[in-house]
Amino acid sequence: MPEAPTAAEREAVDVLLGPPASSWEGGQERPADGRIALGGYRRSAEVRHMLLPALHAVQDRVGWISKGALNYVCERLGVPPAEAYGVAGFYALLALEERPPRVAHVCDDVACRTMGGAAILAELEDRSDVHPSPCLGQCDLGPAVFFQRAGEQDGVVVGASSEKVRALLDGNDLKGEEKGDPGVLVPQAGEPQLRLLRRAGTTDPTSLEAYRASDGYLALPKVIDKGADWVIGEIRASNLRGRGGAAFPMGIKWEAVARSEVTPRYLICNADESEPGTFKDRVLMEGDPFALVESMTIAGLTVGAETGYLYIRAEYPLAQARLDRSIAAARRAGFLGSDILGCGRSFDIEIRRGGGAYICGEETALMNSIEGKRGEPRNKPPFPTQVGLFDHPTVINNVETLVNVPEIILKGGEAFSRIGTEQSTGPKLFCLSGAVARPGVYEVEFGETLAGLMEMAGGVTGTGRLGAVMLGGAAGVFVGKDHLDMPLTFEDARARGATLGSGVIMVFDDRTDFRDTARRIARFFRDESCGQCVPCRVGTVRQEELLARHLSGGPFEEDLFDDLARVMMDASICGLGHTASTAIRSAVDLGLLGKS
Ligand code: SF4
Repeated sequence: MPEAPTAAEREAVDVLLGPPASSWEGGQERPADGRIALGGYRRSAEVRHMLLPALHAVQDRVGWISKGALNYVCERLGVPPAEAYGVAGFYALLALEERPPRVAHVCDDVACRTMGGAAILAELEDRSDVHPSPCLGQCDLGPAVFFQRAGEQDGVVVGASSEKVRALLDGNDLKGEEKGDPGVLVPQAGEPQLRLLRRAGTTDPTSLEAYRASDGYLALPKVIDKGADWVIGEIRASNLRGRGGAAFPMGIKWEAVARSEVTPRYLICNADESEPGTFKDRVLMEGDPFALVESMTIAGLTVGAETGYLYIRAEYPLAQARLDRSIAAARRAGFLGSDILGCGRSFDIEIRRGGGAYICGEETALMNSIEGKRGEPRNKPPFPTQVGLFDHPTVINNVETLVNVPEIILKGGEAFSRIGTEQSTGPKLFCLSGAVARPGVYEVEFGETLAGLMEMAGGVTGTGRLGAVMLGGAAGVFVGKDHLDMPLTFEDARARGATLGSGVIMVFDDRTDFRDTARRIARFFRDESCGQCVPCRVGTVRQEELLARHLSGGPFEEDLFDDLARVMMDASICGLGHTASTAIRSAVDLGLLGKS
């Protein structure tokens, strides 16, 4: 006899999926209630994409997923229990063992650990409701803590202390403690040259009227008027390249999907911003959510998609709440949904919440996650533009890339291409954190130097002397003083063996314990490897062991380290394995880890 769900677990699932009515009536299939039709295993392929939302529904309601709840989800969706267990076990924020209704995830990643995150964990180590967390995307305001709360809204507290965490776990209300408006996170707020950050911190992000009063929803009618070919021509002329790290030309992606004869086609906005040190997409979503909704609508209409998925990391509850409201407001006003602005065409956005897995920022892992599978990357080719979400042509762009679109539509691709440099066009956001006086998200044109950006952020604090800069995130590299003159462009970074990655500029003074930082980076990759391919699964463990031997007094085993790095680079499926060694190797090369 399989274990049964409790009433609360059953209700959590039914609220999401609709009541469990029979799907057969008089020989005819009958939709349960207009939402998800039930039909047992026969319908499994069609409703499997609701698996992660259903698991979240149970987790949100009761704080963990019991066997009975998992059985019920499987019964409703027609998913084999072993597969559902494999999916639930993949995500760090889904608990398969009973645990307290409130749980604190304390960030002890590269930035927060030096701001007090590691100390909070040490002080609360005896508590079963406190867990270490990889980067929470609040690097400018650490230490950050993400609270999961059964039956209540999840929340984030910044500038946390162990006393505050203890009080919030033991019953205090989170209200008033949650982090405030992102305006404080945009040090340039209100400056006239801003494009991407023009509204963040100065315009009410919850008001459609405020968005429209600041040129919002001017681009969408123009797109409807001019048509998809014109839009693709402008995007191609702009030479806009993806801001997520790969720097792929956006126009090529859009054109490939728009020209496909396969339907339906899909759009995905990748808002699973999880690279340590990265928080720019969060600031855009919290500070200017309508801009993302309008940009996605333009993208959807242009490539011929009727559904766009916005996949956002679960640790961004404020951004998700603002996007939820913006999407609803846009629908009510006719900017989203069926017959957009009376043009006869439809496009709508569904938000999907991640489950706490860095690897789901990889585009094909993200698609598997939406489909209700483990978030493991796929082999490429085929590329998503041909075989993407649900095996259909799919455009996937990240938040920052997409919010460039209205500017291109309104000012023209040619004008956009004159911003920045010839190969790196447009404005670019950088996340300044660590030992700088004014951390936050900064917008510059491509070509600004590293020193220039650090100066904008008030220069090096602490000892006032630069130790190193982590450029591009944990998947990037450490650079020293000799890179301060480097123009921040794709081409200059490549020429100097660096990467802009997701726009991370984490500054360390010369008293930093880089050995501790390197240890944390090695642990991060070991934890976050999805384990699908041997070179990465084993290589990240061996790399951590090798580093530990070195940091406890042994020589740096250079040949072995480089062998591991090469195998991970050559034989791993995805970018995690390809870049898992770069930051540590660069730290060794810069002499940051002591004698080698
Ligand atoms: Fe998974 Fe690592 Fe292989 Fe990527 S490289 S698919 S993260 S095991």
